Amino acid sequence: MADAKEGSRVQVSVRIRPLLKQGKQADKVATSELDDSTISVAEDKRSPKTYVFDNVFGSSTPQSDVYEKIGRPMLEEAYKGFNVCLFAYGQTGSGKTHSLIGDIYDEDKKGITPRFIQDLFDEAQRRVDEDPELTIKVSFTMIEVYMEKVHDLLAPRQKGVESESLEIHEDSNRRVYVKGASVHHVLGYERAMQLLKKGNASRQTAETKMNETSSRSHAIMQISMSQEFESIDKKDLECTISLVDLAGSERQSKTESSGQSFEEAKKINHSLLMLGRALNSFSDRKNQDAFISLRESKLTRLLSESFGGNSKTWMLATVSPTLYNITETISTLDYASNALAITNKVKVNSAYRSMELKELKILVGLLEKRLEAVGRARDKKSVELADLEEEYNVLKLAADSTESQEQTRLHLLDLCNRIKEENALLEKRVAAAEEGVLWSLDNEKCGGFFKGRHQLTLAAIMEQKDSVFSLPLITDTGLVTKTSLRLKLTIHDVRCENVSLFSLSFSLHIVGAANIPQQCSTRSFCSVTVVSDGEQRRFSSGTVEENQCPEYNLVREFQVDNADSKILSEPFLLCEVFAFSY
Ligand code: ADP
Ligand code: MG
Repeated sequence: MADAKEGSRVQVSVRIRPLLKQGKQADKVATSELDDSTISVAEDKRSPKTYVFDNVFGSSTPQSDVYEKIGRPMLEEAYKGFNVCLFAYGQTGSGKTHSLIGDIYDEDKKGITPRFIQDLFDEAQRRVDEDPELTIKVSFTMIEVYMEKVHDLLAPRQKGVESESLEIHEDSNRRVYVKGASVHHVLGYERAMQLLKKGNASRQTAETKMNETSSRSHAIMQISMSQEFESIDKKDLECTISLVDLAGSERQSKTESSGQSFEEAKKINHSLLMLGRALNSFSDRKNQDAFISLRESKLTRLLSESFGGNSKTWMLATVSPTLYNITETISTLDYASNALAITNKVKVNSAYRSMELKELKILVGLLEKRLEAVGRARDKKSVELADLEEEYNVLKLAADSTESQEQTRLHLLDLCNRIKEENALLEKRVAAAEEGVLWSLDNEKCGGFFKGRHQLTLAAIMEQKDSVFSLPLITDTGLVTKTSLRLKLTIHDVRCENVSLFSLSFSLHIVGAANIPQQCSTRSFCSVTVVSDGEQRRFSSGTVEENQCPEYNLVREFQVDNADSKILSEPFLLCEVFAFSY
């Protein structure tokens, strides 16, 4: 075939069974191969009908050739990770089982399945030897569809008891599977053959006129293979290999079935009818219809992956060469021609989920390590941060105290300067005061300063009695100013001991002052000092603000005991007024 290399198209081969020895009349040959891809069907030699397929195997083609053309390419695709499927189609006795299984104990008569399994394990061994990181797992299931019921051919079966029928399900990837079918992990060829033999023996069979051992059920052998690699550089691969031995495709009239067998035949034909319809739909490219048809029978549903699905599919149509079977042969060849047009959408089944899981696990590990590292870095950073904060606080404290020290220093400097200024001012004032002049500066801040005084003798005190009187004040330079003091003297007691000695007690009340010079009137106070006997007792009033005629109300009691009358004319008290503006 021109497009035999197109892997996704269903590869269709036809095999012609050799003539059977019985019934000479039935032995008339009507079907024969013209070359390795062309078959000819002729009722008589004048009007032959020819069909072209991917392979046409003549009646003398050995089992090994059939395997090489179908089984070997399937195995290659399976190891690449494609699902592969082979179904054998043809009338009862045309050689389906012979081609698929054959005689498993005879090297020459072994069918495709035992050869395939043998090579599968040989290849697995070769690959595992080559790559120690590779693990190949093989499992085997065998089911049959009989009377539209699905059975596990490998489940233990009791005689006379019909085996449990199983449900067809779809997994989350919309892959069809038989729920409850036993899955057998197989480590080698021998075990696989045991299972194949057991499954084959369990098949529902019934005596029919055409073939004593013909099968009325569809048998599906499924081998699941996974290639798992330890390293993530290589993607895991998995695939399912389906080998389908269909029930006979012949019309019912020929088998002369009746009763249960007729019902059986109808249902078997229903599956094949649906399979045929599916093939037709696909060949007409009405995929939607095909999808519906595939769901209409158990068989098509189980094989749905093999039609237009995720599978590389092979079909082996088996035909009888005799004229007697020519109608069935033509029917089979028409059926097979339809299959030629089917194109499957195939993809490699990298075990994405397990792959992703593997990668994710590694990623999680990496992320955990990174998280740990980040955590450690963060801890380190937070320690660094704490250190930095501490350092900052220390520095800030130092800066603050430096600043405050500086401020204090500046403040003190300022204070010193002010004190210096005050001192200078004070010195000037003291000097001025000592000179007894009314000292005044143009400088507003300093303002003016006034000091006036008046001395009182005991004689003068004794003259004044209970009256308020004014005394003019004299500055230190002897100048008599307008400023006066208002005094009130109260004599409590005067006693004369003898001519020369006397005792006196009195109170002096400095009521206030009048006419304090305006430029010195911001603040003023008065004081009184006892000046006799070298005694210097001084009493001051509080300061009165903003007044040219302030009230001082300074009251003091005085007592003079046994004084010599000579002191009467000597100064006894000094009354002073201090006024200033600054
Ligand atoms: P089917 O499974 O299609 O009903 P079988 O595979 O059972 O048919 O074949 C019927 C008989 O014909 C069997 O005895 C089988 O050994 C024989 N036979 C079929 N095809 C061949 C073949 N290519 N070479 C030799 N014997 C064959
Ligand atoms: Mg068979």
